[in-house]
This record gives sequence, structure tokens and C-alpha cells, in this order.
Amino acid sequence: MDIPITKRFIQQHIELFGKEIYSNGYEKQNNIPSDSNSTDKILLNYKLSIENCRECNLGNSRNNFVFGSGDSNADLLLVGEGPGENEDIQGEPFVGRAGKLLDKILRAIGYNRTDNVFITNIVKCRPPDNRDPLPSEVEECLPFLIEQINIIKPKIIVALGKIAGKTLIKKDIMLKEMRNDTHEFNSIPLRVTYHPAALLRNPSLKKDAWEDFKYIRDFLSV
Ligand code: URA
Repeated sequence: MDIPITKRFIQQHIELFGKEIYSNGYEKQNNIPSDSNSTDKILLNYKLSIENCRECNLGNSRNNFVFGSGDSNADLLLVGEGPGENEDIQGEPFVGRAGKLLDKILRAIGYNRTDNVFITNIVKCRPPDNRDPLPSEVEECLPFLIEQINIIKPKIIVALGKIAGKTLIKKDIMLKEMRNDTHEFNSIPLRVTYHPAALLRNPSLKKDAWEDFKYIRDFLSV
């Protein structure tokens, strides 16, 4: 078939059957089947609707879109910066050394990454060489996090590190200062603490991070 004939053929098919069979699965709109009733299903359908995103260049260099993982009804939502090398390979957030430390911290406050916790990132695709995500990449990806928050409805959001903190509190101040307050993101309480990779680089920060996580534990226990 030459190109115009193929085009007409596809056009007729779309008219007859809809465009689903020709789409790459990515639609900014949330295509949730009407029979979806559990938060699990809604979140999974949302993931399926965005995981082929190529709205910015990170979509071309990634191996995997890292949606996030955990409990779709979580009280605690942890937000990192963006997938690193291991996360990009495995398609899961925080699976490298920093992730192992995060697991230990969560255990210390009586949580684990599958029960009552959801872990995700500001950007869902790995920035090459682990550079900071560009403002345009953050802007493009942020609606995904906002929709995840709308679905999960956590009691508290915890931003891990400066990039996540400044994106969610919409102010570029020192991380030390961000840690002092309970902020809000879309009417949900938001705390900012150190990124676990920073704790690996500088173990003297662990004491302050532990204070932050005790605050989070106590906040969630009332
Ligand atoms: N660092 C992050 O900010 N997120 C990850 O998922 C892994 C490392």
C-alpha cells in the first residue's frame, strides 16, 4: 500500500473502531475504565495511561518510566528527585544504595515501602548522568505527581532533598530552612528532609534526618 492509501485505511479504521489501536497508549487525559472502583486499579490505569510519555527529552534516553511504587492508599507519600541508574534499569524508585538506607529509615519508624507508603519522584525518567532535572522537565512531569497525589490522598507528603523540596514548596531556600516548617502542597501537609544520598555522603546529617522522621511518625500516629 502506498502512503495515501494507508492513511485513508487508518482513517477509516479510526472512524469505525476508534483510535485506541493506533495510539501509543500515552494520553495526557486520564482514561480510567468506568468499572474501575479501587484505588489500586485507578492508580494502575493512570500509570498505563502515562508510561509511554515522550513529552520531554528524558523520555528518549530512559530505559524505564519510573512511575513509583507502594500502597495506593498510603498515608505517607515520599517524593525523591528522579530515577538514578538502578531505578532506570529496574523501573522502581529508590532501589540503589540510597534506597536501601531509605528502607532502613522507614523500618525505624515502623513502616515499610509496601504498606501505607508510596514512593515516587518529581521526574519519572532518569536525567542523563544523574544531572538535576531541568525546570522544563520538572514542569512537564509535575502534573503526573499531582494526579498521583489526587488518587492516593496521602496524609503527609515528604520531599526528599533540595530539588523535591523547592519544587513542592515553590521556593528556592536552603534545605535547612525548608526543614523547619510544615508546608502545604495542594492542601496536604508537606515536610522536607534530607535526601538519603546526602545522608550517605554526609553521615553527620543522619541525626537531623532522624528528628524529621520521628516528627513524621508522630504526625501519622495521631
Ligand atoms: N534518587 C532519587 O531521588 N530517586 C530515586 O528513585 C533514586 C535515587
